[in-house]
Amino acid sequence: MIEKIKLNNGIEMPMEGFGVFQIPEEDCEPVVRNAIAEGYRLIDTASSYQNEEAVGRGIRNSGIPREELFITTKAYIQQMGYDNTRTAFEESLKKLGLEYLDLYLIHMPFGDYYGSWRAMEELYKEGKIRAIGVCNFYPDRLLDLCYNVEIKLQINQIERHPHYQRKEDLEIMGELGIQAQAWAPFAEGMKGMFDEPILKEIAEKYGKTPAQIILRWNVQQGVIAIPKSVHKERMRENLNIWDFKLEEADMMRIAQLDKDCPSMLDTRKISEVKQVYDYLNNPVLTSL
Ligand code: NAP
Repeated sequence: MIEKIKLNNGIEMPMEGFGVFQIPEEDCEPVVRNAIAEGYRLIDTASSYQNEEAVGRGIRNSGIPREELFITTKAYIQQMGYDNTRTAFEESLKKLGLEYLDLYLIHMPFGDYYGSWRAMEELYKEGKIRAIGVCNFYPDRLLDLCYNVEIKLQINQIERHPHYQRKEDLEIMGELGIQAQAWAPFAEGMKGMFDEPILKEIAEKYGKTPAQIILRWNVQQGVIAIPKSVHKERMRENLNIWDFKLEEADMMRIAQLDKDCPSMLDTRKISEVKQVYDYLNNPVLTSL
């Protein structure tokens, strides 16, 4: 049974959810239906994933009442600014076929995200969004945004996995009362994540898989995880983490795997900022 966590505005959110990044629109509806049938209630999409309509159909055809689901989407860089974000929100809601969103996030710390925040505050007050937040904000930008908002952020969704553990970032989010959510909890399986000997040994000890150990390690530290898989058996495997607890000694061993280096995106790197803006000017490139 997936545990829930209370956000700083009192709303409850599942500690584990299902991500749909890189699932094409044409494949996404059955994947979402399967994920919900397996037990996921939190679905994480984004306008830039270009699959919101399929996610909406998956939700509607799941047979699960809307109020039992927790739906997240995000505004991308070209949707920043007050007017753009208000429009983007309505577009996303329409594509998803929903009356309200559970969580709306600023996808990247670029562009006029202060204007976007004003729009999100209004939508929140109008009752169209239950929680608001950001993604990929490092502590400096996060802190500055916090000093300039009327409604406090509930979530910061960040890359986080055993190779990039972000201890200090999590401490600052804790001080600010902002809930951390881990994207790419497996680092997309790159750089030998599932073959880490320490993870394999711990997995064997608990009769679990490395994937389950990684997810348990996240939620046990109070970090919400949103793994993605198009395979039913992996969806089930990734959910089967709520019947055991990692001992402190094993948590310490996993701490040794930290390389303090993002695997996918470092928004502080000039080359990667350029890459993001190249994408905006050339949407044929894959989005982040
Ligand atoms: P991820 O969840 O770390 O990894 C997904 C990869 O792992 C897929 O290739 C999947 O393959 C494989 N996999 C899943 N479960 C497995 C298991 N039990 N054993 C072996 N392989 C397994 O990567 P992600 O999709 O990039 O991140 C998760 C979600 O975070 C996304 O879907 C998205 O919603 C969100 N996200 C947000 C941002 C942001 O900027 N806010 C950025 C990236 C991602 P199969 O599908 O073939 O099973």
